[in-house]
Parts: sequence; structure tokens; C-alpha cells
Amino acid sequence: MPEGDTVWRTAQRLHQALSGQPLTGCDIRVPRFAEVDLAGQVVLETTSRGKHILTRFEQVTLHTHLRMDGAWHIYRAGSPWRSPAFEARVVLATSSWQAVGFRLGNVDVVARADEHTLVGHLGPDLLGPDWSSEEAVRRIRSQPDRPIGEALLDQRNLAGIGNLYKAELCFLLGVHLDTPVREVGVLVQLVHKAHRLLSANKQRAEQTTTGDTRRDQRLWVYRRAGQPCRRCRTPIASATLPTASDRARDSSQQSAVGSPSQARVSYWCPTCQPPVD
Ligand SMILES: [Zn+2]
Repeated sequence: MPEGDTVWRTAQRLHQALSGQPLTGCDIRVPRFAEVDLAGQVVLETTSRGKHILTRFEQVTLHTHLRMDGAWHIYRAGSPWRSPAFEARVVLATSSWQAVGFRLGNVDVVARADEHTLVGHLGPDLLGPDWSSEEAVRRIRSQPDRPIGEALLDQRNLAGIGNLYKAELCFLLGVHLDTPVREVGVLVQLVHKAHRLLSANKQRAEQTTTGDTRRDQRLWVYRRAGQPCRRCRTPIASATLPTASDRARDSSQQSAVGSPSQARVSYWCPTCQPPVD
């Protein structure tokens, strides 16, 4: 699942390829917006807000969300695509480039003034100009009984954390994922760490939380079930979490396709992250 830093980089690549250019072609392959044709309109900018991508035109905004395994590819005009055409949801062409959104979880076209209906519920964006760790901490603390792992994933608290950073952050701070928010003494440090990690990784293709960029050394616990903890050698544990919070978190997403809960597997070290009694 793409995390906030991957989405940030995707938006930046779209921005560099398309901004300032009029579209020479536009194909939106979702039934609700199949009649929308933005050809002839100039792309003003593409930006990210948490894990949402906003491509702005003079009157309207194209909103896309990668969800589980979506991706935007950018090709030279006329180059072959690297994913099958039937997986394409949006095709935006300029005289030089083709941007193709494959397997996108959400696609919406709204008036610029209505962007808030899509992203207005989000908390402070970890990679946005409005980032405020104080506000993120305040929002997380407003639900003191909630497990910290769940609170970190709730994009209304802070925007940009997915399953990977949730697991890695809780490991780094020695916090069990089920610890109620009110008992997390290192909450401020945890939120600061989230900001530092995403900021450090936003320009990289592969995230690292260990500081080591070698392929099998990049992460502490994520997708390492059964392998020894890098600190204490205890086998890393994993479990699938409940899904109610997924539905609540995304209740504002009318056009969601598929369930985001499919990949809600948690990873932790039972020794470094002891459960609270
Ligand atoms: Zn350990």
C-alpha cells in the first residue's frame, strides 16, 4: 500500500510532467465520470494531501487515490505501457507525455471549490505546508481509549501514515500497537518521528526506517513475520487487525473500490514492544 511519501513523490512527478500544458487527450475510465473530457484545458498543478492526489485545472480538480496497489505511470508520448490497458482508469495526454493511472482506488472530478468534500476531513498532512505536530497530537489524544496502531492509521488524526509506517513507528518507540492512546507516554516523540521518517524518505523510491537502504535491511518489522528482531532476535509477530476503523475512516469516500482492510496486517516484536496489562 502506498504511504504518504510515495503519494507525495507521485504527485510531484505528475506536476513536473503535466503542469502548464494543455491536455491533448483525456480518458476517464470510470462510469461516473466517463463523460468528463478535460482535453484542451491547461493543467495548473498536481499536489498531494495525505494519500490523496489533486490535479487542478482552472475550474475543476481531478482527485485520485492509489488505495491498495494503484500507480501513476508517466510515459513519453507514443511509448508502450508497462501495465495492461484494462487496468487504466485515467489517461491524461499532453503533446510530450502520457500520464496513466492504473488500478486507482478512487477517481473523482469536482469543482475546485468543492475539494474540501474529498480532503476536508483529513488531519494535518505530514508532508504538507500546514503540518502541525501539536494539532496531530491533539487529535490523537481526543480519543484516549483507542489503540495507538489504529489512531495512527486514521487520516483524520494525521494524514500520510499507512501500514508500513504504523508498524515501524511503534517498533521504534517500543510501543505495542494495542496500547490505548492515553497510556502512550511517548506520543509526542512518535508523531515527531513520523514527520522525520516521511520527510527523509519522500525523495526515495524505497522507504527505509533503519537508515540502511539495502533491500533486506531497510525495515525493522514490516513484512518480517517470523524473522528475528534486528535488536533482540525474538521472532517478529504478525496479526490481521479488525476492519471497523477502516470503514469509519473512509466513510467519506463515496467512490471507493475494493476494501482497504485486505492488507491490514500488523507486525511487531513481542519483546521490544510488550503489551500493557
Ligand atoms: Zn525485539
